[in-house]
Amino acid sequence: MPAAAAAEGFHRLRGSAPEGVWSAPGRVNLIGEHTDYNGGLALPIALPQRTYAAVRLRDDGHLRVSSDVAGGDVVDVAVADITPDLPGGWASYVAGVWWAVHRSGQDVPGADVHLVSDVPVGAGLSSSAALECCVAASLSDLLGLGLLEHDDGRARLAAWCQEAENVIAGAPTGGMDQAISMRAIEAHAALLDCRSGGVEQVPFDLTARALALLVVDTRAEHALVDGQYAARRRSCERAAASLGVATLRDVPVTGLDDALARLGDAVTRARVRHVVTEIDRVTRCVTALRAGDVDEVGRLFVASHTSLRDDYEVSCRELDLAVDTALDQGALGARMTGGGFGGSAIALVRSDDVERVSAAVTEAFNRAGLREPGCFAVTAGPAAGRDA
Ligand code: ADP
Ligand code: MG
Repeated sequence: MPAAAAAEGFHRLRGSAPEGVWSAPGRVNLIGEHTDYNGGLALPIALPQRTYAAVRLRDDGHLRVSSDVAGGDVVDVAVADITPDLPGGWASYVAGVWWAVHRSGQDVPGADVHLVSDVPVGAGLSSSAALECCVAASLSDLLGLGLLEHDDGRARLAAWCQEAENVIAGAPTGGMDQAISMRAIEAHAALLDCRSGGVEQVPFDLTARALALLVVDTRAEHALVDGQYAARRRSCERAAASLGVATLRDVPVTGLDDALARLGDAVTRARVRHVVTEIDRVTRCVTALRAGDVDEVGRLFVASHTSLRDDYEVSCRELDLAVDTALDQGALGARMTGGGFGGSAIALVRSDDVERVSAAVTEAFNRAGLREPGCFAVTAGPAAGRDA
């Protein structure tokens, strides 16, 4: 039990028991990629993999954080000193949450925090949001804020976590990751409306249909990621400005051709085409899921991948290989998921085919001389909460 491991690790390092253990899930996005910062739609599920925080408040104003993932060393920072430069590194994701809650006007004391996690780190499965959200969940309970008890409160916690990641950890991500980690419901995907902040729960229980969602962590590392992400965002913002809309969400798919005709540059047109058609694919995917039309879900996955690869140009050799191999092996659909340039792909496969498709993808990576990928089937897990 990872919750017990977090408590034990805390005890070992701090010499006393924590006040409690809280956890939060990583996520995988079914469809709706690079749409969140365009005010669009996304459809993530929470993973069964989670990050666990064992926490005890301190009365000296210091935050002392350790993590198995980071080797167990304790990072110490005074809450009043937290900035984008301090404490820096991985602990800034934790300190950022403290900072955001403090900035909202809450009185926040210090704390000892020990973390364990089974979310793959840097795999595009949002270990960063899992980390922020388990810490925010602990703060809500330990400060008596009661925000875990209703969806509005959870949305507020998610906003603090996003602020932590944007301002203190310095990653300019949209709000999808924190929203799903805080607001997921087991066996459901969440249709996130990134313009209104609204969430609609969509039943997502593949086991009942003898299907599985296979995640392929490509373990690919490409240096381009941050700069390319920022460049895509800028390109969308500029396109929205020249079309006279607040965000590309305001371009309906029926008005796409008109919008494209008003954009001079071919690359910008391709970026806009991805965003507008991708938002439409999310809507169609929700309709297909509600109707039980899994073949259509698979087709939409493939169309999403093609659009991300050719129009948005954020795929890479490893992601394409994972997707193509899964499709060759009879997957109903497959696509890259997350920001791109590495990270993970997903494939919708028959339950009986999980092993075979995983083996074929691994074999294809070996043959291509690539690092061995991680392949595992996932179900939609629950949101952040208290474990012990
Ligand atoms: P992703 O969220 O896709 O896993 P990110 O680059 O957004 O990738 O976040 C990964 C970073 O988050 C790590 O490099 C590390 O700084 C931090 N991190 C995530 N989980 C943990 C953890 N359990 N312990 C320590 N740091 C973590
Ligand atoms: Mg992340």
